[in-house]
Amino acid sequence: MLKLEHVNKIYTGHHALNDINVTFPEHQTTVIVGPSGSGKSTLLRSLNLLERPESGRYHFDNLTLDFKQSLSEKAILKIRQQTGMVFQDFNLFPHLSVQKNVTEAPIHVLKQSPAKANANAKDLLAQVGLADKADQFPASLSGGQQQRVAIARALAMKPKYMFFDEPTSALDPELEADVLRVLLKLAQAHDSMIVVTHNMEFARGVADQIIFLEDGKISYRGKPEAFFTEPTQRIHDFLSAMN
Ligand code: ATP
Ligand code: MG
Repeated sequence: MLKLEHVNKIYTGHHALNDINVTFPEHQTTVIVGPSGSGKSTLLRSLNLLERPESGRYHFDNLTLDFKQSLSEKAILKIRQQTGMVFQDFNLFPHLSVQKNVTEAPIHVLKQSPAKANANAKDLLAQVGLADKADQFPASLSGGQQQRVAIARALAMKPKYMFFDEPTSALDPELEADVLRVLLKLAQAHDSMIVVTHNMEFARGVADQIIFLEDGKISYRGKPEAFFTEPTQRIHDFLSAMN
């Protein structure tokens, strides 16, 4: 279970996360939506400790972090290892083959045997529809294919939670669909996921829980049905602007 209590992140002169209280249940997909600059990336980056909030508490299973205190290396390592992050811009290792992109961290960080890591990578690449691309290099793949490699690479670390920050916003619509299909499959397999997206149709189809962020505050948290069918005026305006 992942839970934030009274979390605040303040950049110079800007309150990017303002008293955030939220639980991200296991085996569910939480979708975070909201206007540009509302704090969506800051929230995801805080969850995997790429950003350090100034105050509040973070519960990760039976581990509790108090952001006002210094965090132990052990706690940071545990959370980093248990949370896989997929960014907008893929970030693959350009000098490694697709297969090696996926096996690199399992072999060097998790100390998996190359045989085990290779077998696992093969399964994961098949799962994202790229079984035939294992020996190619990232530069020879489309953006959508690169993003699916990035997903396989994150999954190879067997994280408890997967975070996706606008994983399709750099892609053309046809390529976007392939990536969203992979996310949908993960959601249907009850992986624990948090997804930031501007694709409302996808959000509606995949979310167990929707969070609407506005100026660093959560102004809706609940089922997608009510979010889309009985929106507040503010959410209605946001949804209209998205279409
Ligand atoms: P987008 O939809 O455009 O990706 P977002 O909801 O992800 O937006 P964030 O990137 O989380 O928004 O940014 C939230 C606010 O914090 C913005 O006003 C942004 O300018 C500010 N901010 C983010 N990172 C920094 C930083 N490193 N230094 C200063 N301000 C920052
Ligand atoms: Mg963002």
